[in-house]
Amino acid sequence: MKTYQIATIPGDGIGKEVVPAGQQVLAALAAGGAGFQFEFEDFDWGGDYYRKHGVMMPADGLDALRGKDAILFGSAGDPDIADHITLWGLRLKICQGFDQYANVRPTRILPGIDGPLKRCKQEDLNWVIVRENSEGEYSGVGGRVHQGHPIEAATDVSMMTRVGVERILRFAFKLAQSRPRKLLTVITKSNAQRHAMVMWDEIALEVSRDFPDVKWDKELVDAATARMVNRPATLDTIVATNLHADILSDLAAALAGSLGIAPTGNIDPERRYPSMFEPIHGSAFDIMGKGLANPVGTFWSVVMLLEHLGENEAAKRVMQAIESVTANPSLHTGDLGGSATTAEVTRAVCDFLGGAQQRKAA
Ligand code: NAD
Ligand code: MN
Repeated sequence: MKTYQIATIPGDGIGKEVVPAGQQVLAALAAGGAGFQFEFEDFDWGGDYYRKHGVMMPADGLDALRGKDAILFGSAGDPDIADHITLWGLRLKICQGFDQYANVRPTRILPGIDGPLKRCKQEDLNWVIVRENSEGEYSGVGGRVHQGHPIEAATDVSMMTRVGVERILRFAFKLAQSRPRKLLTVITKSNAQRHAMVMWDEIALEVSRDFPDVKWDKELVDAATARMVNRPATLDTIVATNLHADILSDLAAALAGSLGIAPTGNIDPERRYPSMFEPIHGSAFDIMGKGLANPVGTFWSVVMLLEHLGENEAAKRVMQAIESVTANPSLHTGDLGGSATTAEVTRAVCDFLGGAQQRKAA
């Protein structure tokens, strides 16, 4: 039987609750006769590791992950450690180390979820946001001088390279082409940022010539926020820079009902390295350690992980299991206005996967 090697990195906060839940779902799927199995290796990197070792992950950590088929990640962020240390020391180290340049974020309003958009029908909001994940505003280039003095100065330089922009636009056009509506919106801010963003627009036009069947348009990022709220059905696939898409995808998650539901994949499209799947939410300090975290964002990330492995049937079954759970308000966690626990939601999804298999076998 095919065995997939999966690295699990819970990280911090509710990552420690939702990643084991995601692992349980994968295990239930395999036990239900999916026809493949998983071998998990767990890595205790994150804030606690930092307190012991002074780093978020060991220097040779990437080598331990290199041979894996995929990574399931929780969150990096600790109440007692500065956010830029936890983020750069763990999540970005993996994303950049494995050149996972495409960050893919599907958003839909799942059955049973009451989204905040009153004029929006469930089917109006069905997007996938593609975020440039390797450079741009988060390239880490910049510096700080004269700290603490009145003349202190700091820069974060947004690096945009032709290679980086072209490969993410090509990925987005290809993804748009694979979706029924073949519709892509390229988001920039090329009115105010007159160098790199103008280059984005130019490269988008060049790449579009290779995808004549994809309809595409351009939108400035500020206008895009209003369009997401007022005319959600006019959007399908969306591509934007690292910073812009980071912000837009939190908005998208909120419009779809909750940050606790939204998944993401940090993808190396060339498959030179393992890709990493994670809920988009963070450590959620306010609810961590209480068993109240919504694990659905992690389960949907598991769906993306399975799709990446080419296990599309299994991915569909997990998505069905998720939708059966969201459709039932008694299985909603606090972020959705319910009172279900992480464990209850996880059990329901695992039961569905086992039950579906029993029906198939009968
Ligand atoms: P957050 O996502 O942790 O929390 C925002 C709000 O959403 C909180 O009220 C939280 O309780 C709620 N929430 C989030 N996920 C939920 C879930 N699954 N179920 C129920 N409620 C949920 O964002 P934040 O407060 O801005 O950040 C907290 C920490 O997490 C910071 O250290 C930040 O740097 C880190 N962070 C990490 C990542 C990552 O590793 N990918 C992403 C975002 C934030
Ligand atoms: Mn974010």
